[in-house]
Amino acid sequence: MPRYNLQKIIKLMLPGIILMLLAPVIHSQLHGLTFIQQQLFSYLPPLLSGLAIILCISFNQGRLLLTTVNLLCLFLLIQNQLQSSLNHPSNFVLFSGISLLFPLLQLFINFIPERGLSPRWLVRHLPIIVSGYLFFWVAAENLLLSDWFGALPMGLIQMFSDPYLLSQWAVSLFALTTLLGLIILWFRATLADACLVIITLTIAAMLALFSESSVSVLSCTLGLILILFTVLFNSYSMAFIDELTGLPGRRALENTLRSAGRHYTLGMVDIDHFKKFNDTYGHDVGDQVLKMVASQMKQAARGATVFRYGGEEFTIVFKKMDEVRAIEIAEKVRTTIAAYPMRIRDKNRPCNEKQGRQLRNGSGRSEDTTEVTISIGLCEKTREHKDSQAVIKQADEALYLAKQQGRNRSVACHITQPPTRRAVRS
Ligand code: GH3
Ligand code: MG
Ligand code: MG
Repeated sequence: MPRYNLQKIIKLMLPGIILMLLAPVIHSQLHGLTFIQQQLFSYLPPLLSGLAIILCISFNQGRLLLTTVNLLCLFLLIQNQLQSSLNHPSNFVLFSGISLLFPLLQLFINFIPERGLSPRWLVRHLPIIVSGYLFFWVAAENLLLSDWFGALPMGLIQMFSDPYLLSQWAVSLFALTTLLGLIILWFRATLADACLVIITLTIAAMLALFSESSVSVLSCTLGLILILFTVLFNSYSMAFIDELTGLPGRRALENTLRSAGRHYTLGMVDIDHFKKFNDTYGHDVGDQVLKMVASQMKQAARGATVFRYGGEEFTIVFKKMDEVRAIEIAEKVRTTIAAYPMRIRDKNRPCNEKQGRQLRNGSGRSEDTTEVTISIGLCEKTREHKDSQAVIKQADEALYLAKQQGRNRSVACHITQPPTRRAVRS
C-alpha cells in the first residue's frame, strides 16, 4: 500500500482548512446583513446543493454526491423543524437525533469505494441517506418527538463540554468518523477524502455552536463550496493529469503549446530499452520506472514544464528558451536520471517479509538496483514551423537520431555539435 507523506495530506486539506479559517470572519460580517439579505443567504445551500448534485452526477463522484445529499437533508431539516429553542423537548430530541445521524451517514459514505455512478448505485445508496432524515421529519411533523425525550440515554443528554452543544455520544461518533476519514485519507490521499474529513469537522463545529445565529446556513454553504471545488478540481485532473505519473498529460500539453507563443523549444524524451524492464521484471516494475523518471525529470527540469506524452515518452516545453539554453537543462535531466540508482525488487522475492529480510542480510538478495537512461530530441520553434505539430515532428526526428547515435544522449535539431556528453552507454 502506498505511504503518502504528511506534506501531501496537508496540501490536500489546505482548501478546506482555508475555508474553515474564513468561517469566523464571514460569520462576524453576517450581523450587518439586512433581513432580506439574510433570507436570500439562506437560499444558498439548496442552490449550491443542486449545482453540486448535477456536477457530481456528470463527473461520476459518488461519495461527494452522497455527502451533498447528507448536507442538504440536514440543512432542510434544521431550517424547517429546528428554528426555535433547544429547551423544547421535541427540539432537543431532534437535535440529538441529527447530531448522531450526520456522522453515522458520513461514516457509511467513507466506506463506499469510488466507482462509476449508475442508476442502480443511486437506488442502492440514496435511500440510506434520505430515510433517516425522513424518519425524523415525519416524527417532528406528527409531534411525536417530545414523547421520546424521557427515553434518551444519558450519553445524549449530557453535553461533552459546556457551553458547546454536542453530546458525549455525538462527540464520540464525530471523532470516530474523523479518525476513519483521516486513515482513509492517509492511504488513498485524494482530494475527495480530504473534503469528507473537513465537512465532518465543519458540521461538528456547527452543531457545537448551534445557538449562534446563521451558523447552519454558513457551515452548509462553506461545505458545499468545498464539494464544488473538489468536483471541479477532480474533473480537471481527470482530463489533464496523467494518473500514473501525476504529470500533466497530452491534453495539457496541447493547451500549453497553444499559449506558448512563438519563442520556445520542445524536447521529446524516450526511455531507453524500456521494453526490457517490462519483459524482465514485469509491468508493475515498468510502472515504477515511469514514476521515477517522471519525478526526477520534474525536479531536474527547473524552468521548464514536463508532460507525459504517452507510453514511455515525455515532452519538455522550454518556454522563451532557445536550443542552446534548453539542451543545458535537457542534459541536466538526462544525467540526473542516469545517475539515479533505481531499486528493483526481485520477481522471485519471498512473499514473507521476514524471510525476505533474512535473504537480504545473507547471501541472497531480493532487492537490486539498475540504471535507467533516457534519450532526448530537441527542436526550437522557428518561422519554418507551421504549427506546434511540426515542432513535435522535428523534435521526434532528433530523438530518433539520439537513439541511432547510441542512446542516453540529447540531440538538438539546429545545433550541429551538441555539448560533450558524459557516460554515454547504449
Ligand atoms: P528504445 O530504446 O528504442 O526506445 O526501446 P524501447 O524498448 O524503450 O521501445 P519500445 O517502443 O519498443 O517499447 C516501449 C514499451 O513501453 C512497449 C510498451 O509495452 C511499454 N509501455 C507503454 N506504456 C506503458 C505503461 O504505462 N506502463 C508500462 N509498464 N509499460 C508501458
Ligand atoms: Mg517509445
Ligand atoms: Mg523507449
